[in-house]
Amino acid sequence: MIIILFGPPGAGKGTQAEKLVDKYNLKQLSTGDMLREAITRGSELGEKAKSIMDRGELVSDEIILSMIREKLEKRDSNGFIFDGFPRNLEQAKALDEILHDLRLRLDLVVEIVVKDDVLISRIENRARESKKARSDDNAQVLKNRLNVYHQSTEMIKPYYLEKKKLVKIDGMRSIEKVSGDIEGHLLDIIKQ
Ligand code: ADP
Repeated sequence: MIIILFGPPGAGKGTQAEKLVDKYNLKQLSTGDMLREAITRGSELGEKAKSIMDRGELVSDEIILSMIREKLEKRDSNGFIFDGFPRNLEQAKALDEILHDLRLRLDLVVEIVVKDDVLISRIENRARESKKARSDDNAQVLKNRLNVYHQSTEMIKPYYLEKKKLVKIDGMRSIEKVSGDIEGHLLDIIKQ
């Protein structure tokens, strides 16, 4: 099973991905986490990505796609859940090609819908809790991340709508209600 969790920064993609990983034995592929790990390791890729991430802009498609291909080629899971990828139409189309090459199929794209003002207060809270704080969690960078989301990432929606893969859920409810809805859609797919 291959699922994409789609939504703006702070929508709760990571939280929901973790729940699904445990329950359905999926492997989470979060490009944001992969990049942060590369920064912590001090790798060349991490060096390149850091300043881009700290501005809230998108890291190059080339870097992102090679990371994703490498993970999928391992074939070490019978299911994957993407979180934070694809982030523009080029990445979405490239993912289709990679999946096609590897004889894999995308099952579902779940859009977690959250309004901008709710996102802003969530991320302000995260910035205050020192444990989860990230260097890109500040008001100016967040504004930029939201702009990038509305200008580039949302452009993917018509692409998946046309393929009849996209479902929308209201992300402004409790974590349990949101995960309940996502699981409902997953069970529909498993039954098919
Ligand atoms: P959020 O969902 O809160 O914006 P992420 O952890 O997904 O956070 O991403 C943090 C940053 O990492 C992004 O602002 C961007 O710079 C970079 N990044 C993550 N995924 C991608 C991607 N698929 N393409 C380009 N850049 C990415």
